[in-house]
Amino acid sequence: EKLAEAQKAGKPSYSFEFFPPKTAQGVQNLYDRMDRMHGFGPSFIDVTWGAGGRHSQLTCEMVKTAQSAYGLETCMHLTCTDMDKSKIDDALREAYNAGCTNILALRGDPPREREKWEAKAGGFRYAKDLVKYIKEKYGNHFDIGVAGYSEGCEDQEDADLLIDHLKEKVDAGGTFVITQMFYDVDIFLDWVKKCRAKGITVPIIPGIMPIHTYAAFLRRAHWTKCHVPEEWTKALEPVKNDDAEVREVGKDLVAKMCRRLLDAGIIHLHFYTMNLAQATRMVLEELGITPDLESPLDKPLPWRQSLGLN
Ligand code: FAD
Repeated sequence: EKLAEAQKAGKPSYSFEFFPPKTAQGVQNLYDRMDRMHGFGPSFIDVTWGAGGRHSQLTCEMVKTAQSAYGLETCMHLTCTDMDKSKIDDALREAYNAGCTNILALRGDPPREREKWEAKAGGFRYAKDLVKYIKEKYGNHFDIGVAGYSEGCEDQEDADLLIDHLKEKVDAGGTFVITQMFYDVDIFLDWVKKCRAKGITVPIIPGIMPIHTYAAFLRRAHWTKCHVPEEWTKALEPVKNDDAEVREVGKDLVAKMCRRLLDAGIIHLHFYTMNLAQATRMVLEELGITPDLESPLDKPLPWRQSLGLN
């Protein structure tokens, strides 16, 4: 719904992903950061869910605080395997009561101690089962996002087969797709075309990972097995020991990638902030799509107003 509104306004929109920090001080710092990042004008922020329900209460609390105390539109991630159904029911109820209207419905990663994921008897097997469950219980109250993988995922490298599974999630009631991070725009746009050809018509939101350090850049590319275009390594490798320079070069590369996506008709960018503001802010400023404020950090505006939606 929010995406449709943003589309009508004819402006690119964007969202920020955060994860629950481990310490109480970390949580407070993150709230402060969320409050400041409010001023950049995201159309929503989302909070991740610990696989198996670890720290799930914190996810619910953060959604509630961001939604009601900071006036941010929120999207709560929710995984459905390796935990009791009652946890899912509690989380959905809390999100509903907090005024959250967006859920990213996921299966969840396998727990660290087990190599391969296995379904628990009587539980949910796939993300599409959770999508169906949310629809059954809450009708159209929630916009339901589902995860997409343009270059394969941990337990399925066949990207074409994954498109069929993505279609099942959308057919079950998914209203938007957020993708795994990637650096190769050509592969991504080709994948979007294939999704469209298979009848997936809902908004597809690219997951964008800004670059903070060279080590983290390499680690994340390796972890997601995404293709790194030669241009990226060529530009980053020579400055790899200077974090400030890496962020500067990384900002140019990521902004160029975002511009290509926007030019290709993508209307919304999803930033994996890793709970840090700087690298995301640098990309948004380079793109020139932040609200037109003299000093965004000093004058945070409610997101609707800042996007010109009211
Ligand atoms: P599914 O879509 O259910 O797919 C899981 C596997 O089952 C795939 O291999 C798929 O091919 C296969 N499959 C699906 N349907 C069928 C079928 N009909 N027949 C046979 N095989 C099938 N994890 C967290 O723990 N917390 C988070 O907050 C979180 N946020 C994420 C956000 C995004 C944007 C993304 C892209 C991922 C996120 N993840 C998160 C990771 C995600 O939980 C894992 O990647 C997980 O392994 C798969 O979840 P899924 O929802 O994509 O699963």
